[in-house]
Amino acid sequence: MTKRKILVTSALPYANGSIHLGHMVEHIQTDIWVRFQKLRGHECHYCCADDTHGTPIMLAAEKQGLTPEALIEKVHAEHLADFTGFHIGYDNYYSTHSPENKQFSEAIYLALKANGKIESRIINQLFDPEKQMFLPDRFVKGECPKCHAQDQYGDNCEVCGTTYAPTELIKPYSAVSGATPVLKESEHFFFKLGECADFLKEWTAGSTTLADGRVQPHLQPEALNKMKEWLHPDENGEGGLSDWDISRDAPYFGFEIPGAPGKYFYVWLDAPVGYMASFQNLCSRIGIDFNEYFKADSETEMYHFIGKDILYFHALFWPAMLKFSGHRAPTGVFAHGFLTVDGQKMSKSRGTFITARSYLDGGLNPEWMRYYIAAKLNSKIEDIDLNLQDFIARVNSDLVGKYVNIAARAAGFIHKRFDGCLKQVSDSPLLQQLAAHSENIAADYETREYAKALRDIMALADAVNEYVDANKPWELAKQEGADDQLHQVCSELINAFTMLTAYLAPVLPQVAANAARFLNIPAITWAHTQSTLGEHRINKYEHLMQRVEQKQVDDLIEANKQSIQAAETAPAASTYAPVTEQASFDDFMKIDIRVAKVLNCSAVEGSSKLLKFDLDFGFEQRVIFSGIAASYPNPAELNGKMVIAVANFAPRKMAKFGVSEGMILSAATQDGKLRLLDVHEGAQPGDKVG
Ligand SMILES: [Zn+2]
Repeated sequence: MTKRKILVTSALPYANGSIHLGHMVEHIQTDIWVRFQKLRGHECHYCCADDTHGTPIMLAAEKQGLTPEALIEKVHAEHLADFTGFHIGYDNYYSTHSPENKQFSEAIYLALKANGKIESRIINQLFDPEKQMFLPDRFVKGECPKCHAQDQYGDNCEVCGTTYAPTELIKPYSAVSGATPVLKESEHFFFKLGECADFLKEWTAGSTTLADGRVQPHLQPEALNKMKEWLHPDENGEGGLSDWDISRDAPYFGFEIPGAPGKYFYVWLDAPVGYMASFQNLCSRIGIDFNEYFKADSETEMYHFIGKDILYFHALFWPAMLKFSGHRAPTGVFAHGFLTVDGQKMSKSRGTFITARSYLDGGLNPEWMRYYIAAKLNSKIEDIDLNLQDFIARVNSDLVGKYVNIAARAAGFIHKRFDGCLKQVSDSPLLQQLAAHSENIAADYETREYAKALRDIMALADAVNEYVDANKPWELAKQEGADDQLHQVCSELINAFTMLTAYLAPVLPQVAANAARFLNIPAITWAHTQSTLGEHRINKYEHLMQRVEQKQVDDLIEANKQSIQAAETAPAASTYAPVTEQASFDDFMKIDIRVAKVLNCSAVEGSSKLLKFDLDFGFEQRVIFSGIAASYPNPAELNGKMVIAVANFAPRKMAKFGVSEGMILSAATQDGKLRLLDVHEGAQPGDKVG
């Protein structure tokens, strides 16, 4: 077999939020593919990184009182821990804020410039006259110029997927202040994508013949159709490629453009370059020839797994950037659809916006989710649904009921009756039947038809279970003179389990590792799908997988509901979610904020955090619990003071302490203290604040 050299990436998660199951779909999809290639003996490198630049990171860091560098370092550790928890086996998980990425971004920019592909233009950019700043694309909203969807961001439309300049938005408004932006001049740098159209038409419709003779199309058919819309102007001359604005004005967290002080690379320029940087970092660490992978005539393979929402960047900008800076283009871009939960978009209020951390902390087995996601994935750009009842049923039926039970049922007899030794059973028709599927199932993994692969594997598990029922080892064990038959059947079952484990190993790496210990072999490889263990001593069976319990899933949903409610209603929360979405004036007006007088403030027995406030709101008296005890060690000093409180939150039960009928506002200081807001003389209890 030809040994292939393959570089694989997943899209870079943005360092401004937690990893959720939506991310996990992609990283599980990629990881399964990479593990499959490695099991087949190929040289396959899996690189990823956090995407760390841009205005949202800058603003989020500011809000949290951190430098951007400190924020992205903290988030990097969280992201990596989440992915590792789901057994995502990157060879390198790096950061786009790295010396390698700076060097490559500059080199690619300078090469494009030397190639005549960069142009400086004075443009009129949207400027927020209230905030006195140029507005980044994501901070301008308005109507999509193509499909006329409302409230779309300034860089691309989430409804129809078109990308455009923020100035093309219809009825734009500043998401920072709500003001209507004005145009202001600024020098920007453009990548002349329009000049790359001939190359891109050829590349997007093209394919690469691999070392093993297979023909790999660069894009999936649905993606190619989308590209055709974007590459070819329609009869009205609409559409077609626009040149790409790759610079942003200071202040910006990113890399300054060489020779252009105060101008920074737009985050989307250095993000895909982050794939190279992560790989270069790996190469220096373990001694791989970077150039062999990225030179223009490279014969290695390079694949990018991405979500359908970032096709434009990966199927147009990125190949053009690579090509015209003297590098190779990707071998394939593999897009997937979005994750829905119980048929609906993931929702924070329904608790279905499930973070990776909540899943792991809830003690749910990550391989359950890996299996379930894999059982839904194919090579198409289709959304996939996590149906929670189906999740429980399928994992319990397939993995526990059909698969691990095979080993559990046979291993005991092998130990009790045959000193842990397997019999040679290579001529077993059952095992030959299992082995015969090896190349078909391999082909399904190779082409990302995981759902089909798992259906075939489970059909084989069914065949093994039918064999168990037909031969009933527990009855053979009671029969006189049936020892040899019992040994035969149980040895076949352990070998069948080994083969099934090899088939499932890309999806269930932890089970495969534990099974290898039980089977007393160094590791499971793809060769085990077609071979038997021979006369071989196995170790004692230890349980490989528990069933999913309904309660675990219920608790998971509840935990995600609570985390969002805590963030929304926690008294004087000391951290604020980064500014990803701005509240409108109307949103603000929904909150009824009032002046209230403290009738009595007291410590709460059994809580080190809470103070109990008896408040006079003028129109009525209420009790509010506030988590500021650490900042006000002498609560009685607050008696008689005026405070500011939200009056129209739903009453909230505070554990065993009672019901809180609102929220008192306080300022969170840099050193973690909370200070109540002062009310000047003349204001009365019940007065409206706004
Ligand atoms: Zn649109």
